[in-house]
Amino acid sequence: MNGPTPVFRLSLRDALLFIALYLVVDWATFFYDTPALNFTPWNPPAGLNMALLIVHGAKAVPTGLAALLLGDVLVRGLTTPTAPLLLSNLGIIAGYAAAAEILRRRLRLDPTLARLADLVRLMVAVAVAAAPVSLAFAVPYAGGALSYADLPALVAQYWLGDVIGILSVTPLVLVLIPRLREKARLPTVASAETVLQAMCVVVALMVVFNPLVPEPAKLFYLLYPAVIWIAMRRGLVGATLAIIATQIGLVAALHLTGKLGEDLAFYQTLMLTLTVSGLMIGGTVSERRRLETDLRARHAELARVSRLNILGEMASSLAHELNQPLFTTMSYTKAARQMMLAGGSREEIDDLMGRAVAEAERASGVLRSIRNFLRHDQRQEAISLPAVIAEIMVLAKPDAHRVGIAVAVELPDELPEVWGDKVQIEQVLLNLLRNSIDALAAQPDGRREIHLAAGAVNGRVEISVTDNGPGVPPERVPELFDPFFTTKPSGMGLGLPICRSIVESLGGNLWLDSNGPEGARFCFTLPTAAAHD
Ligand code: ADP
Repeated sequence: MNGPTPVFRLSLRDALLFIALYLVVDWATFFYDTPALNFTPWNPPAGLNMALLIVHGAKAVPTGLAALLLGDVLVRGLTTPTAPLLLSNLGIIAGYAAAAEILRRRLRLDPTLARLADLVRLMVAVAVAAAPVSLAFAVPYAGGALSYADLPALVAQYWLGDVIGILSVTPLVLVLIPRLREKARLPTVASAETVLQAMCVVVALMVVFNPLVPEPAKLFYLLYPAVIWIAMRRGLVGATLAIIATQIGLVAALHLTGKLGEDLAFYQTLMLTLTVSGLMIGGTVSERRRLETDLRARHAELARVSRLNILGEMASSLAHELNQPLFTTMSYTKAARQMMLAGGSREEIDDLMGRAVAEAERASGVLRSIRNFLRHDQRQEAISLPAVIAEIMVLAKPDAHRVGIAVAVELPDELPEVWGDKVQIEQVLLNLLRNSIDALAAQPDGRREIHLAAGAVNGRVEISVTDNGPGVPPERVPELFDPFFTTKPSGMGLGLPICRSIVESLGGNLWLDSNGPEGARFCFTLPTAAAHD
């Protein structure tokens, strides 16, 4: 991304919706208690504010400030004199707005948090910004409800609470917003595994905060496996949900066991480490999944380009193959017309028209093969090889015949169906045939032959393409499957590596089976459809 992170316009309706959501979350955070010191072990509403500022930029400051003030007055019924409260909230919102601006403008944060680096940037910015914000928060209390000596502890606890709240809520909101905008499918929640994962969190909390356990903090590590499991399976969204659920459970358990007041900063530190660990694992898993999806998309694109390339090379032969039936159709139709005008017999005219239709069908068959071959979407299914080979011959034969190559196909009567993607298998076959045609075309004289055979071997189907060309120079064989290895003036050197990765992705192998001055044989295997069931 070159410019700063784009800002989305905040409409009045969205601002009001945000404030309403903020107040609900604020109320839920404080509902169990009305602490004198406007204070909670974690502060998820701050996470909402941070997400708002990252998505909408500094223009959202008034909305964020209004939410903060309304929260203080409506949820906590705070009676602190208005000026210090306003100042303190201004300090809080200014601190987070500055962090959001730096993230957006300087650090070019991708708000979908697609890369782990973005998540780390967010973590660091939040940790740094929460420090001055904690000071701003403590101002109204110093010298009044609180002695100056208590101030550092309060600031530390507020810092921990804000960082935990923001780090668990902001990434979730940021990841979900684009999905909601695009109306994409949200992660499914109700699988058996999800239920099991949720149960693990609950059981771990019950074990840690059992009345029989005198010091729950010592067993805190038991919460890790559940959060890590969820983060590894569900990525960043799962990690944030697991962390939020754990925090809610923790606060409830601390409250029920009367430990909320004791050692709070200690529990907060444990919560923070759990949050950071869960996020890092979730972020890593999400990033890896995204890279895998990107890689698959690129691979598909490369395969498509290589298909275009193969067809491009065969274009003149195909044009000829199309031209011939079209020309013949025209001749038959003209002849039929003349015969009609000359008062020819019905049978003769019908015969000519029948021939014209057959020729037109042949041309349309060639066009259909080309269109199918360029089709993009991958679909694995049970495939009959003879049908695929027949289709590919429509494309390859004209090219072979043009340079005087005889192509023989030898298939057993009973050939099991294979499992794979039809177009991809066609691509492999066509590429191997093209390579043989090229090798033979370069050979000056002698009988030029290609032999295509298939048979069932060890529960798989093995397909071979053999030619009697010059073979691959022995010293070049080790590089044969390297990308960009080519000996042709206009070659791309991508055919064989793409074929190999296609075959391997379908669960088979591709190799140079025999090679020498008397010709080359390439073989590949495919799993049978029966083995797939
Ligand atoms: P390209 O066809 O663009 O060169 P490939 O990856 O399909 O890319 O082939 C790489 C090289 O392998 C070819 O340039 C050629 O030297 C060699 N090769 C492939 N098939 C044969 C064959 N049947 N006979 C001789 N050489 C071959």
